[in-house]
Order: sequence, then C-alpha cells, then structure tokens
Amino acid sequence: MKFVADGMLGKLARWLRLAGHDVTYIGDLRVPANEQDDVLLERAKLQRRVLLTCDLGLHRRAKRAGIRSAYVESNDVVRQLVEVSKRCGQKIEIRPENSRCPMCNGSLKLASKDDVKNLVPATVLKAQREFWRCGKCGKTYWHGTHWKTILEMASRYNQIVG
Ligand SMILES: [Zn+2]
Repeated sequence: MKFVADGMLGKLARWLRLAGHDVTYIGDLRVPANEQDDVLLERAKLQRRVLLTCDLGLHRRAKRAGIRSAYVESNDVVRQLVEVSKRCGQKIEIRPENSRCPMCNGSLKLASKDDVKNLVPATVLKAQREFWRCGKCGKTYWHGTHWKTILEMASRYNQIVG
C-alpha cells in the first residue's frame, strides 16, 4: 500500500516505511503550512496513495473528493498502525527484508560487510552479520539496539490485532 501522511503523523510514517510501505510524509517536503492540505490531497489523488490524517475536516474533504483516506485518532503509534490496518483491511508486517528507509522512504538493499566497512563503527562491523543500505540517502542499518524496540512494537501490534 502507498500512503501520504499529514504533518502530525511523522512517527507513523516512519513505522509504515519500516513495514515496507511507500509513504510520502508531508514534513519531508518543503511545503508552506497553509498549502499542505492541498498538496496532501493532490498527492493522494495523482499518486493513488491513501491519505493518513488526524484532521477530521481534511479526512471529510478527501472523502467528498473521492480520495481514499484513513482518519487516525490515536496518539500511540502502535494503535495508529492498528487503525491504519483496520481501515485498509490489511495487516501490517514488520520484516527487515521488506523495509524501506524510515528517514527518506528509499528502498533498502542487503549489504555485505565489505560494502559497509567504512560506514559503520568497527565494533558494529565485528558484532553484526547483516546490514542494509538505503539506495536513496545511503544510510546504513543493522540489527542494533533499536531492533529490540522494533520487535517489541511488532509484538504489541500483533497482540492488539490478534
Ligand atoms: Zn534513506
């Protein structure tokens, strides 16, 4: 699924990218605040993205224009993921092999130790076996401490969804 997320949903956007979804986050674009709603609707319509918004007025505007929109009510990102999956009728799976770069939405590719030897700290290089690189911004990822957080989030999500 492809999404476009409003300015309040940056964290949700990053999590959906980790789950492998293509997410445009309005906060990543240089759009003046008073033009953001129009840009969100335009991107959703032209690029066939589901609009994610916590603004009920904007959600209704999208619906009236025949644009797919999911109204997000919760402040908790795991509950937000649950809301999105319910509204779109699709479970969200967080698997590293499907992830997109949470920072820029680029595709991640598996990288060898050799590829990343100059990019990560020596201790990390020694301790880790798997690395991923973003094809767009070049950021390198590995199963570091934040990996535990990701797994905890995924397990909370799975508990709620059942
Ligand atoms: Zn990136």
